[in-house]
Amino acid sequence: MSEEALNTLNTLKADLSGQVAIVTGAAQGLGQRIAITLAANGATVACLDMVKEGLDDTIKAITDAGGTAEAYECNVTDRERVDQVVDEIAEKYEKIDILVNNAGITRDTLLPRMTDDEFESVINVNLRGAFLFMRTVSRYMMRARYGRIINMASVSGARMGNPGQTNYSASKAGLVGMTRSLSKELAGRKLTINAVAPGFIQSAMTDALGDVAKEEAKKRIPAKRLGTAYDVAAAVLFLASPAAAYITGHTLVVDGGITG
Ligand code: NAD
Repeated sequence: MSEEALNTLNTLKADLSGQVAIVTGAAQGLGQRIAITLAANGATVACLDMVKEGLDDTIKAITDAGGTAEAYECNVTDRERVDQVVDEIAEKYEKIDILVNNAGITRDTLLPRMTDDEFESVINVNLRGAFLFMRTVSRYMMRARYGRIINMASVSGARMGNPGQTNYSASKAGLVGMTRSLSKELAGRKLTINAVAPGFIQSAMTDALGDVAKEEAKKRIPAKRLGTAYDVAAAVLFLASPAAAYITGHTLVVDGGITG
């Protein structure tokens, strides 16, 4: 089946009208598709990234389709900027219903050769960045007694190890642990905190692996194809929807069966 045909199968719908969402790392890849999907289902989406150019493409795609979105330049590791942007969004729209911590990086290398910077930068963006957003956004959500937080983990760390990714898998396993603990802190306030753990998804991140590695990966995936950003966005949409009210602390794996 062609990618286009697969993508048209993704017709999950949710009523997010009147809701306000923040998506980090929304300038390209999974974050861009997630932002477009939430907007297509009625949410007003604050699209955050440290790269301005790609953000413009995301906003254009959303507004051309009749949705509402705004771009915010923000490095998720900059605590002051994170707090400032979140306050600005909450003040403007009077609430924040959905937070998708999607921004993430890899700095793959075998551990004996890994530099301090390669370790610390991955933890800083993938784990501390999500912490900073959850800390400030959850305060608004607690007051509103409603919220959906979705953390973008990975099967690497959440379900399996990957050579060359000790830093990355540590950050993603940490994200899963943080998701589970925070879900217990906030369930009584009607907030849900979940993670999505993608496997091999067609994206700039996996393009960097090269064609040979991708073909090898495909052979190991029971579904016999790489996932698409649409596959991941559908999982995020479900967890972000009012229908997922009784699911919290969960990690939803989207990997074509690779870790099943
Ligand atoms: P990508 O590299 O295509 O996009 C990541 C986005 O995050 C970029 O727009 C980048 O500018 C932004 N970003 C990076 N550092 C940032 C920072 N400090 N502040 C703000 N924005 C920042 O990656 P992707 O493939 O779309 O992956 C998105 C998420 O999904 C990541 O968390 C990644 O770890 C996770 N993931 C991806 C795959 C995959 O196969 N692509 C698999 C598992 C998990």
